[in-house]
Amino acid sequence: MKILVAAKRVPDPNATIKVRPDGAGIVTDNVKYVVNPFCEIAIEEALRIKEKQGGAEVVLASVGGKVAQEQLRTGLAMGADRAVLVLSEDPVEPTVVARVLKKLIENEQPQLVLMGKQAIDDDSNVVGQMVAEMLGWAQATNASQVKLADDKKSAVVTREVDGGLEDVEIQLPAVVTTDLRLNEPRYASLPGIMKARKKELKEIALAEVGVDVTPTIKVHKLEPPPKRQAGKKVGSVQELVQMLHAEAKVI
Ligand SMILES: Cc1cc2nc3c(=O)[nH]c(=O)nc-3n(C[C@H](O)[C@H](O)[C@H](O)COP(=O)(O)OP(=O)(O)OC[C@H]3O[C@@H](n4cnc5c(N)ncnc54)[C@H](O)[C@@H]3O)c2cc1C
Repeated sequence: MKILVAAKRVPDPNATIKVRPDGAGIVTDNVKYVVNPFCEIAIEEALRIKEKQGGAEVVLASVGGKVAQEQLRTGLAMGADRAVLVLSEDPVEPTVVARVLKKLIENEQPQLVLMGKQAIDDDSNVVGQMVAEMLGWAQATNASQVKLADDKKSAVVTREVDGGLEDVEIQLPAVVTTDLRLNEPRYASLPGIMKARKKELKEIALAEVGVDVTPTIKVHKLEPPPKRQAGKKVGSVQELVQMLHAEAKVI
């Protein structure tokens, strides 16, 4: 079985992100970059499937600058078998990423595609859904559990929905996007990091993939959220109730 996992390079979610004074983007100097946390969960899931059934191949795919090699090497150090990086020094919008992934998937012919439900930088929540639609494949989004059938022709995916859980059965090949509770990604071991250096990381220029890269979205402005007001300490429950009633007017 072959599993293709999409992995995006994003700013560290624990870092404080500053918007550029002109509002045209974020300050990127001295920002640490990581594998998108949801993509890391997708890599972990692929590795667990591989370990459980043996014989599977896990292929990573990313679209981004040469620097994204670093995140792909992290995935390879976790245990993925090889990686493909489609090089684009300019940022590409989700539609283009989806078109590129479709091409890679057609070349690689995996039975399962795993990717994050969202990339924590641009929060578009569309790539997985678009890839599934472009391929005409089944999709299950926001997976918190993935159970492959013994014959590997289908899978039951548990999705977290408002007020509970939903189980859906999908026919493979399919696209599954991952939610936070699916698993806890492993750290790359030292032997894993050493091995990763020798694993294949193929680079392809975006122009060679043969997809339309014309942008259709323009970001006009980014604004940081308003600064939080300082909190107040209350002396008693009675005072809290009184403030909620008189000041906040919520009770
Ligand atoms: C912690 C957290 C909590 C949230 N809670 C809520 C909430 O309670 N309610 C609410 O309404 N919203 C919430 N949101 C926001 C909401 O989930 C997002 O708006 C939406 O899911 C974002 O999707 P996206 O655009 O980032 O995904 P996309 O950009 O579509 O990315 C999805 C996946 O596509 C692949 N991909 C994308 N680009 C590339 C690339 N260049 N190379 C390779 N692969 C790529 C990756 O696998 C990626 O993970 C939350 C967000 C976060 C971070």
